[in-house]
Amino acid sequence: MESEMLREQGHIMVDFIADYYKNLEDSPHDFPVLSQVQPGYLRDVLPDSAPDQPESLKELLDDVSKKIIPGITHWQSPSYFAYYASSTSVAGFLGEMLNAGLSVVGFTWLTSPAATELEVIVLDWLAKLLQLPNHFLSTGKGGGVIQGTGCEAVLVVVLAARDRILKKVGITSLPRLVVYASDQTHSSFRKACLIGGIHEENIRLLKTDSSTNYEMPPESLEEAISHDLAKGFIPFFICATVGTTSSAAVDPLVPLGEIGKSYGIWMHVDAAYAGNACICPEYRKFIDGIENADSFNINAHKWLFANQTCSPLWVKDRYSLIDALKTNPEYLEYKVSKRDAVVNYKDWQISLSRRFRSLKLWMVLRLYGSENLRNFIRDHVNLAKHFEDYVAQDPHFEVVTIRYFSLVCFRLVTVDGDEDKCNERNRELLAAVNSTGKIFISHTTLSGKFILRFAVGAPLTEEKHVTEAWQIIHKHASILIRNGNC
Ligand code: PLP
Repeated sequence: MESEMLREQGHIMVDFIADYYKNLEDSPHDFPVLSQVQPGYLRDVLPDSAPDQPESLKELLDDVSKKIIPGITHWQSPSYFAYYASSTSVAGFLGEMLNAGLSVVGFTWLTSPAATELEVIVLDWLAKLLQLPNHFLSTGKGGGVIQGTGCEAVLVVVLAARDRILKKVGITSLPRLVVYASDQTHSSFRKACLIGGIHEENIRLLKTDSSTNYEMPPESLEEAISHDLAKGFIPFFICATVGTTSSAAVDPLVPLGEIGKSYGIWMHVDAAYAGNACICPEYRKFIDGIENADSFNINAHKWLFANQTCSPLWVKDRYSLIDALKTNPEYLEYKVSKRDAVVNYKDWQISLSRRFRSLKLWMVLRLYGSENLRNFIRDHVNLAKHFEDYVAQDPHFEVVTIRYFSLVCFRLVTVDGDEDKCNERNRELLAAVNSTGKIFISHTTLSGKFILRFAVGAPLTEEKHVTEAWQIIHKHASILIRNGNC
């Protein structure tokens, strides 16, 4: 990188990005939140091959404005309420910038001691904010590592747990290994198991329903384990979720963990979204029982303002992870004075190369302070509550699940008990509001019902955006009702 060129063009780029955020804030309606382009639109406006000669940054940024931005779904718009948010912050952005600038590859301690040591320290800090048990800290047998995503986190712990059990029962027992989760567990769990060689028919997804707000029933787990043991299967992994993807349901960690412990089964807690809220004392109760978990993961890029991507994972026993994932080629060997004090993160993850992600987490924690972070999360929860109140007061709508965090699951009610018709109406409502470009909400299904999801989490969202979102939803519902579609 040529320093003067970086200085000049870096300023231009920061201005460009700052203007983007200002425009999103000042004139959100100039940016359809859900991109309205058709598939293949970009091929029609970009040349077929790369240029032979360099072009200017100005030309390029013009193309970004005219050709790329129309194809962007504006996750950072204050009127973005879909899926779970991808939370950003100035601190997180600056951390990404510094990371790109330093461009180190800290796969072993040697290749950038600060990259490794900062990650260890920052994950200890975060573990303390979450009041995780001491065994998850680097000072004990466990420790933290930043994975790229929640999907990578669950994969590495499935591999660690699998190898731990196979060491005991022998590799030929692989076809008898079984795993447990609920039917609300994120799809990455199934993928992780299949990559780990677990047979598809040995993945037990326990049924949930509305009577328990879609939480995994501990009795079903106990029953499934007893049944499997009686048939000669080897139960070895439970994936519990705090804040499921569809409806932010919270599996009861205390009884699940006790069951896991009594059978010597690895319990992983996927708290990708809601785990971030547990830095607030009032939400910490949702991870009570974490002391019986073997691993725990949050996505700081979802709700801790750490920009994509940053997925802290803690394990109770780091050696389980290292035993499953270590490689020691000669070309990576090095001499070090205090071998035991050294972490080589290449042995805690799938890939060798790794980004210096702890920088941005460190910057977020330092530049905001935990008290502000807690308040940002509380603001989002209050905004979701505000939306929930609108829904609850309108007889045409219902709130479908208990809301603990910043996600509201709701829908237009059935008029005549015809669920198919009701599903169709809600589908139409979703399409209508998203086609306005003014807001973006998403959907799921629960017990065969088509549900609308309103998730607060974009950092620019304020009460006025929530109110406007409700007005848009209400207006389109009224049109459907007036036209006899409801
Ligand atoms: N787990 C849960 C509960 C999620 O909600 C998600 C994504 O929304 C994931 C895991 C996957 O996270 P990632 O996209 O970082 O792989």
